[in-house]
Amino acid sequence: MTKIENVVAWTAYPALMALCLCLHNYLLRLGFDMKVSSYVPVVCGALAITLLEIKFSHRKEWNPDGEDVFNDAVFMATVQVVLPALLTILASLTLVEFLNSRQLTLDSFWPHHWPAWLQAGVMVLCADFFRYWLHRIAHEWPLLWRFHAVHHSPPKLYWVNVARFHPVDKCLQFLFDALPFIVLGVGEEVLALYMVFYSVNGFFQHCNIDIRLGLLNYIISGPELHRWHHSKIAEISNQNYGNNLIIWDSLFGTRFLPKEKQVGTLGLPHPRYPMKFLAQMKTPFIKGIEQA
Ligand SMILES: [Zn+2]
Repeated sequence: MTKIENVVAWTAYPALMALCLCLHNYLLRLGFDMKVSSYVPVVCGALAITLLEIKFSHRKEWNPDGEDVFNDAVFMATVQVVLPALLTILASLTLVEFLNSRQLTLDSFWPHHWPAWLQAGVMVLCADFFRYWLHRIAHEWPLLWRFHAVHHSPPKLYWVNVARFHPVDKCLQFLFDALPFIVLGVGEEVLALYMVFYSVNGFFQHCNIDIRLGLLNYIISGPELHRWHHSKIAEISNQNYGNNLIIWDSLFGTRFLPKEKQVGTLGLPHPRYPMKFLAQMKTPFIKGIEQA
């Protein structure tokens, strides 16, 4: 590893994460609305990670080709942008309205008076607890694994394939990591802060950059841990379930990070598991395709 590669490995995550969160705060102070102030730092983070992946690839063979990026972009637009927006509108129009109409306000269960960054921290901790168990069940229960297998299908890791989730899997995630906070009336500024952290962390988690998190590997579920979660060997991939944090894995005994070792082959055992967007909408309904 050259000197510059070493500097990038140790500083890229904390520096870029801090820059994105500061940019989000700065844009809000300038008077931009919440959506612009959230999406601009996330897009800047994605662009910076793309450049780092090109210049400092962890594995050359993991770099995507045009077809990979096209299919990932369709997942990104539909499953990660349009679907959560529709689900949020639907939840607000139905469940929240229903609760309000019955005067069942659940706001008092959330510390709204705390600073936004602290509320976002509590949200990460709670959402990750729910996501940990949903993710673990998705690996251990064959019916849910059929849907979650879509996320594990790529034989390489790079940031854009963080978007690859079957819509059914995404809806389940929404039920556990977004809906409870919408119902609790968590403020827009807290949700936006969470979204910036969640997105940039997700990009890093799947990135093809040589990143070293050191002691942060005991708190954050970063790329060094998450690559093992994408191993082709089920005994290895059934670990490191953390979405943003790794602390729940440590607590429940599923954290795995061997020293000085690199993960082997990634993906699913099936040699001809379809990789295109439309084909992957159907794969959960094809019996046995997610197996060898
Ligand atoms: Zn998984």
